[in-house]
Amino acid sequence: MSLKTRAREKVERAGISNYSFDDDVLVMCGVRYTLAACRCGEPDCDGVRLERNAAMLNPALQ
Ligand SMILES: [Zn+2]
Repeated sequence: MSLKTRAREKVERAGISNYSFDDDVLVMCGVRYTLAACRCGEPDCDGVRLERNAAMLNPALQ
């Protein structure tokens, strides 16, 4: 299963429906999250981490 598929399931499990993918970047509420494989080893881990992409923040908001 791809990271993108895992991320989609993770987001939908959280009840979030207004998201989109820009290539392999998850966009929620205007915030971009880079997908990364999670290797924490927790039994209930879904195997994906969402890393907030600070570089993409709107400079006007800082
Ligand atoms: Zn994990």
